Amino acid sequence: MTPRGGGTGLSGGAVPLKGGIISFEKMNKILDIDEINQYIVLEPGVITGDINKILFNKKLFYPPDPASLDSCTIGGNVATNAGGPKAFKYGVTSSYLLQLECVFPGGRIELIGKRTKKWNTGFNLLKLLCGSEGLLGVFTKIVLRIIPLPEKEILILMGFEEIKKLFSFVEKILRNKLFPSIIEFMEKETVSLVREKIENFLPSESSLLFVGFDGNEKEVEYQMEKFYDLIEKEKIDRVFAGTDRKTIERIWEVRKKLFYETEKMGFRVHSEDAGIELKRAEEFISEIKKLFKIYNKTPYIFGHLGDGNIHVNLSYKRGEEDIVKEISGKIWDITLRYEGTITAEHGVGILKKEGFKKEVSPFIYQIHRKIKKIFDPHEILNPGKVF
Ligand SMILES: Cc1cc2nc3c(=O)[nH]c(=O)nc-3n(C[C@H](O)[C@H](O)[C@H](O)COP(=O)(O)OP(=O)(O)OC[C@H]3O[C@@H](n4cnc5c(N)ncnc54)[C@H](O)[C@@H]3O)c2cc1C
Repeated sequence: MTPRGGGTGLSGGAVPLKGGIISFEKMNKILDIDEINQYIVLEPGVITGDINKILFNKKLFYPPDPASLDSCTIGGNVATNAGGPKAFKYGVTSSYLLQLECVFPGGRIELIGKRTKKWNTGFNLLKLLCGSEGLLGVFTKIVLRIIPLPEKEILILMGFEEIKKLFSFVEKILRNKLFPSIIEFMEKETVSLVREKIENFLPSESSLLFVGFDGNEKEVEYQMEKFYDLIEKEKIDRVFAGTDRKTIERIWEVRKKLFYETEKMGFRVHSEDAGIELKRAEEFISEIKKLFKIYNKTPYIFGHLGDGNIHVNLSYKRGEEDIVKEISGKIWDITLRYEGTITAEHGVGILKKEGFKKEVSPFIYQIHRKIKKIFDPHEILNPGKVF
């Protein structure tokens, strides 16, 4: 059986290889919001973007914000341990997961974790289940930690003719001990896909850097003062900033639309999501570009730069599946040579099964196999996925 949330998982995990589908579409209720204990109780089919719409009125906030938040579900987010642009400051889904109601193969229902902010009894099975890609159990109720809504938010969009300058600017942000909530980027060629959406913002061809700050008024003012000093010092003149929700959304649309614009380029989009140490990211990207040149293809590169999470999207035509597989394998090889991970957020699913074997040792691979057997001895959950 394949548990399916919104179906936006990018490694093909929600597509059944055999057996049936469990749909959570109708389990979409917000069951409780506890303002004192600071948690929210949700059914797994709640659309992620709806959580903050509800919390906003209570001045509360759930930070993980995958770019697919308008269509993915919180159950899918837990199963893939989803991150998002704000992961740099706030962390990923597992950082907020307090408790799961989980149905295990055979029908046993267990509560894993507590509603308290801390628990330490036994192994951390909650962390194991978070990111288990529907392989170990099915989540039917989810309790997430929530925090006070930051009073103020600002999103700054900057254009850089030279990608080198963009990277060195990010380095300076970090060296200056600034603490943005968002550090995202889109490489020049990638920006060209959504160019008409940004004409109002930026004058000419450039790679884009998105930097966000949030917090209380004073905090944001302090960070912004330091940030604008840096902008001035570095002579960066292509800057557009949004402080109200509407403008922030308008800037964000550029990034959100990207996947769908890449999709329009061909038959399908293949999406890689390497995780690389930030200081090696620039070198990594130039290797990826060299690789794509050999195949006469364009890599669409963007990502959560603050986390070193570099997405490489490849749009391809029907019949090119084997070439895509070959390129994908070579991207994993480069990633591993840079001591990175082949999947920083999408998970292994179907598409990265071979990459998983490349990344972990046979010993660790076997531990994963044994854990799967303990939870699901007859391999009825997401059969054929990950292993
Ligand atoms: C445009 C776009 C942007 C994206 N941006 C991001 C991003 O910024 N960050 C990020 O991390 N990911 C991102 N993703 C990937 C994807 O959206 C996330 O992985 C998301 O968490 C998947 O949720 P879903 O509801 O669509 O799950 P599905 O795709 O339906 O399922 C994903 C996996 O979870 C399992 N599953 C689903 N529900 C349950 C449940 N209740 N119990 C147990 N297992 C379950 C499925 O079997 C499958 O293995 C993006 C995808 C797209 C298309």
